[in-house]
Amino acid sequence: MKRPSPTRSSILDPRSTLDLCELAPSHIRSIAPYQPGKPITELERELGIKDAVKLASNENPRGPSPLAREAARRALEDVSRYPDGNGFELKAALAKRHGVSIDQIVLGNGSNDVLELVARAYLHPGASAVYSEHAFAVYPLATLATGATGIEVRARDFAHDLAAMRQAVTERTRMVFIANPNNPTGTLIARRELREFLQAVGAGMLVVLDEAYYEYLPNDLKSDSVKWLHDFPNLVITRTFSKAYGLAGLRVGFALCSTAVADMMNRVRQPFNVSSIALAAAEAALRDQEFVAESVRANSEGMKQITRGLSALGLRYIPSYANFVSFEAPAAEALYQKLLRRGVIVRPIANYAMPNHLRVSVGLEEENDKFLRALEASL
Ligand code: PMP
Repeated sequence: MKRPSPTRSSILDPRSTLDLCELAPSHIRSIAPYQPGKPITELERELGIKDAVKLASNENPRGPSPLAREAARRALEDVSRYPDGNGFELKAALAKRHGVSIDQIVLGNGSNDVLELVARAYLHPGASAVYSEHAFAVYPLATLATGATGIEVRARDFAHDLAAMRQAVTERTRMVFIANPNNPTGTLIARRELREFLQAVGAGMLVVLDEAYYEYLPNDLKSDSVKWLHDFPNLVITRTFSKAYGLAGLRVGFALCSTAVADMMNRVRQPFNVSSIALAAAEAALRDQEFVAESVRANSEGMKQITRGLSALGLRYIPSYANFVSFEAPAAEALYQKLLRRGVIVRPIANYAMPNHLRVSVGLEEENDKFLRALEASL
């Protein structure tokens, strides 16, 4: 229900018992807060246990590359200095790797930050952004925070329905968000379909292609999205160091886009939004592609282990192209609680309109095993 805004007299009255939430504009009050995975330390404190496993935030269970650890340790020596606000060295390494120019890159405090920057630069009250049902929660958050309208499009078999998304676009639409693969469903849109979508929507709005889990895709399923930047200057690709690179705690992500879009995003970016330690670690992580490849191989093995285990327990799951899988669970919330009591944290996804599913991230072999044993005992 829409509540009236406070009046000037109620704000200025020192005896006023004004609800401080009501001082915030209605488009902020209508935002449903992001629900993160439960931290291990919190569960261990609550249960008085020591060996909980967290399979709830799609992190790399192997941690980061040793090169990244070492670079972070070295950068610690210099933390009295502000970071390089332009992130020159990391951008130079990314530019070389992706074949783009430095001014086509925007760095963020995680790709989450980058998603917010693009929303803040291009959305406003009266404009709209289109995204899919069951798509990553930050799209509505970033959209609504600008006062723009979010248009959520019904998914098809838990996947983005690009034809319906195209239909949902109006003359006020300034942005379409696409997660590929998507979180929490793990679904993938084929390369050809994506390209056709870009062609069909035209250049009158940005298409934000969130590829947070790109590294996990087998080569034959990867879109050559970075090459598409030549043909589609309205395309914004976002990637992250939080997943396959194992640096979620340091918070580094980036956008690849046209120089004009990067320019607009940089205008709303905090000057030092990525820390010096994060910049150094990400640059080193990028040099260790063998580590990434090994993480991807381990993920693929872990995914087989988990999906085989789910099938053996008679549970249906949504085939996933990322480092997590969502499975159908009877009484999902109660099952989540039972798993917690056995020291296993997974992710309920009722807030994604999937109240009958739980999402589990692929962990190390022994963690997956612990999850499957806890699951069997809890069912
Ligand atoms: N996009 C998707 C689809 C995600 O699942 C996540 C992380 N949950 C992000 C973006 C943001 O990750 P980060 O800010 O750590 O880069």
